[in-house]
Amino acid sequence: MRLLGSIILLLVLGSALAYKSYSGYQVLKTAPLTPAAMPYVNRLSRRFDFWGTPGVGRPATVMVSPQDAPIVIAALNRMRISHEVMVADLGPEVERERAENEALRLALPRSPRVAAYDRFMEFEEINAHVLETVAANPDIASLVDLGLSTEGRELLGIKLSNGAAGQKSVWFDCAIHAREWIAPPVCLRIIDEVLADPALRDLADWYILPVANPDGYSYSHTDERFWRKTRRPNEGSSCVGTDPNRNFDFLWDGVGDFCSEVYPGSSAFSEPECGAIGNFVSSNADSLVLYVAVHSYGELILYPFGHTVEPVPNVDDLIAAGTASADAIEAVGGTRYSVENSAAGLYFTFGASDDYAYGIGAALYSYTYELSGGGSGGFNPPASAIQTVVDEVWPGLKTLVEYSLAN
Ligand SMILES: [Zn+2]
Repeated sequence: MRLLGSIILLLVLGSALAYKSYSGYQVLKTAPLTPAAMPYVNRLSRRFDFWGTPGVGRPATVMVSPQDAPIVIAALNRMRISHEVMVADLGPEVERERAENEALRLALPRSPRVAAYDRFMEFEEINAHVLETVAANPDIASLVDLGLSTEGRELLGIKLSNGAAGQKSVWFDCAIHAREWIAPPVCLRIIDEVLADPALRDLADWYILPVANPDGYSYSHTDERFWRKTRRPNEGSSCVGTDPNRNFDFLWDGVGDFCSEVYPGSSAFSEPECGAIGNFVSSNADSLVLYVAVHSYGELILYPFGHTVEPVPNVDDLIAAGTASADAIEAVGGTRYSVENSAAGLYFTFGASDDYAYGIGAALYSYTYELSGGGSGGFNPPASAIQTVVDEVWPGLKTLVEYSLAN
């Protein structure tokens, strides 16, 4: 008995030790950024971990380690970007959230065929849910097996269809950035809604990929809460992973440090997860009307392009559909999403998935949704907020689909 107790204690200690401590990490929050500040912020964001999408008129938040804090604070001071300490020590907050999630996981075991919205599901649970949903609804649902991640996890999407030939199609992916845990529940909610409503399946074929970066998502559960990238090792560096949302083969920009949170990879589509999505999007270009990547956070609906503020040809339609979506979200609980060109905030990006889908001509309507924040220093809402977020975002996504198919 004593031996068993010791083993359990060792296991608990072992798992606690494996999990990255954020003790002493701070979250800094700037004043709303001015256009003049943006070149500096763009440069800083290549080295330090900015959360959400920085932009003109919005405060930016950056997470800094104890070693980096003086460097970032000095840089912000030099650039005359005023800022405050939003979270003085992220460590206890991450530990508290982790304990809460673990307690919820034990208290609320997974119910087969039902998505959980009262806690964050782990990757294996989500994939099991996808497989069960397909098995239980053979006339409506089919598996979209996109292949394997670097570490061999299955990229399992789901297709929901009325079975008619020649349907238009819409695509949603969630959590291509690993730590954005609030995103997969949104994809799962879409699946629930489309399964339940034949009218939605008459609109289009729906493709949904609940976890677009399974290695990173799993790692953010087991090892590092704020892991963002993929988990493919980088040759010649101890820094692992690529920012998958800089790795798509559209205006891919190969400049970047391995250790950067926005490292674009060794080549376009170097990451199998991105290649799989890109391959699906390009090979379904004939039917695809709408592409949506769900991220967090910032309450933003972003449309192409990320590298320029030059308007794209159908910018009026993109704005009209995005605004209709934002109105539908606001109608639920008053949360206002802002509809913006990805580069309007003068934070420039290359190789993003929505720009790829739009840029190669696959989807005339293409968006990145940045959901609401909350929780650890503003980054991620707690489990208790999942239901609210999915309840308000779903009507917005439904409106977006209806608009983009009608126009
Ligand atoms: Zn993201």
